[in-house]
Amino acid sequence: MRRKSQLRKVFAWSLLLLAVTCIGILISEVAFARAGGGQGYSGGGGSGRGSRGGGGDLEIVWLLIRLIIYYPHIGIPLTIVVIVLAKKGYIKGEDTYVDYTIVKASRVKSDSFSKVALTQLKQRDPAFDENFFIGRAKKAFRLIQDAWTARKLDKAQAFLSDGIFEQFNIQLAEMREKRIIDHLEALEIVSATPVKFQSDKNFDVIHLRIDATAINYRKDEKTGKLINGSRSVEPFAEVWSFMRKPGVKTLKKGGLMEGQCPNCGNPIQIGRLSKCEVCNALLRSGEYDWVLTSITQACEWSVRPDRAVPGLDAIVAADPGFNMQHIKERVSVMFWRKAEAERIGKIEPLRKIARNEFCDSQQQWLKPDQSGARRFYTGCAVGAIDLLGVELLEPDDNAFAEVIWSGIPSFLMPGKGIETAGQPINFRHVFVLGRKHGAKTKLESSLASSHCPSCGAPEQTGNENECSYCGSVMNDGKSEWVLDAVVDRSDPKVKEILDRLSAASKVISDEAHAKAVAKHGAKGGVAATQPLDDFGISGIELLRWTVAMMLADGHIDNKEMKMIRDLADKRDIPEARIQQIIDEFKAVIDPVVHVMQTSKIAADNDLLRHIARVALADGKLTTEETDMLKTVGNKIGLTSIDINMMLKRERNAIFQESKDILRNIKR
Ligand SMILES: [Zn+2]
Ligand SMILES: [Zn+2]
Repeated sequence: MRRKSQLRKVFAWSLLLLAVTCIGILISEVAFARAGGGQGYSGGGGSGRGSRGGGGDLEIVWLLIRLIIYYPHIGIPLTIVVIVLAKKGYIKGEDTYVDYTIVKASRVKSDSFSKVALTQLKQRDPAFDENFFIGRAKKAFRLIQDAWTARKLDKAQAFLSDGIFEQFNIQLAEMREKRIIDHLEALEIVSATPVKFQSDKNFDVIHLRIDATAINYRKDEKTGKLINGSRSVEPFAEVWSFMRKPGVKTLKKGGLMEGQCPNCGNPIQIGRLSKCEVCNALLRSGEYDWVLTSITQACEWSVRPDRAVPGLDAIVAADPGFNMQHIKERVSVMFWRKAEAERIGKIEPLRKIARNEFCDSQQQWLKPDQSGARRFYTGCAVGAIDLLGVELLEPDDNAFAEVIWSGIPSFLMPGKGIETAGQPINFRHVFVLGRKHGAKTKLESSLASSHCPSCGAPEQTGNENECSYCGSVMNDGKSEWVLDAVVDRSDPKVKEILDRLSAASKVISDEAHAKAVAKHGAKGGVAATQPLDDFGISGIELLRWTVAMMLADGHIDNKEMKMIRDLADKRDIPEARIQQIIDEFKAVIDPVVHVMQTSKIAADNDLLRHIARVALADGKLTTEETDMLKTVGNKIGLTSIDINMMLKRERNAIFQESKDILRNIKR
């Protein structure tokens, strides 16, 4: 009996050993099967294992059943161990599979975005020929680069909207004045790919990313001395945004980019007439051809979702042609004209676009100080123009637009050249626009925002406020928005007005909501996570926030530095910019407060989601990364639990998006 019981023990232990070995195989099978599962995993070597795993599963179950029956004191605990281990292995396998999918999708993301953009565009215009369009855009790209070096827009202006034309003209004038040449040679276009398509009832927009290499530096016009840049070939990337009216069909022949009337083919004169002299077609209305409305460095580019603007619904109801693009173009022209007026010390550039009262009050800033020096900003750059609100009033409606910009403090002593001081400074200003109550937007002149609203004559900068062609007063706001005031964003008066506007629009939306609920019955439940647009934030902004958060604990470690480099790589941020940003944040006491004060975007949930995505880019998340998110989360009123939940949701959202991307790219 004793022997028998000893034998039993030996048998039991051998069974246990065998079982443990089998469990080991089982666990690795579960993990592996998920990693490759059904996604056409091409790593190789995975196919043989599946069948062996299947046999293993059955054997082990059989073994466990027998153990439970004959040796319950071993069988039962062992079964529990097996279940726990198998579950752990499953979760780990699931995790590996999610990581794998996210990383795999990130490699083909840009192809997928481009495919989506083209598909959407072709739904609007089935005849759209991307190769023809890209070919035209490449030629236009060369024209602009050459014009920039030559400091003359002559040949490269037919396809520019007024907003960008004025900006370039003023920037080129400043370069001439500062005696700087932006030298470019050995230009090679590497690729041109659509990255995003947007459309609303007024306009279609295609954003085209152009990758190129060139030798590019700024030099002194006389001495040839290098000011900045490099004398070796380097890559750069820009995003070009083209607009046209919805429903316009693709041109089969040359148009604005070729310097021809897109309607009749007549060569376009340099004078920037709004109409073709032969067929009278409105050239840059977007009715016949794409018009270029902006050029942005890839790392600075973003398509920010238009926020709910208080008063927008009301003005669109009163003026159906009212559109954001027109306001942005118009404010852009105002901004550049104002910068130019300050630089040249004359009010002329503003005369026809700003009200008399504003021009008069502005005069004092243009005069030299006691030492004879005039102060202004050069090297200006606009980060964003956003409509904050619209107020319908008698006798004039008002629109409030925020301009986030930077400029280098500069001064001019009589008889000397322009002197500039140090780094650019960032500003947030609100441009207050006025227009007669009841006036209507001319949709067709939305992109011709500096032309005479009465007769369409080209931009004029004389000292009179009348159009020199038709004699109508241009700055009275009778038919077009004019500049009433420029105030600092932090001005309490601005806050008061905006609070009033959003309170008024909240009442309206609450009423609408109450009505909708009354009609359809209240629908409870948590809203699903909204899709997040990768391009909703620019690479630079994202890097600024990431760096600020990393520096919250005073230093950036190697792992964090790798994360920064990965982000920079993905979003085309040059090495010099990375260093500049790190230095900037190291110099301030509280990096998070600093970024909140200087950022173009609000610290909201979407921003946290974007930052979480930087951390989740490789699928995994370290404790430091989680802590970092909690630091910023707490500042905007989110608890650690909220952040943990958000991370979980975000990882899942990225996983779902990644699956869509992989599916889309296969199609
Ligand atoms: Zn024509
Ligand atoms: Zn006129």
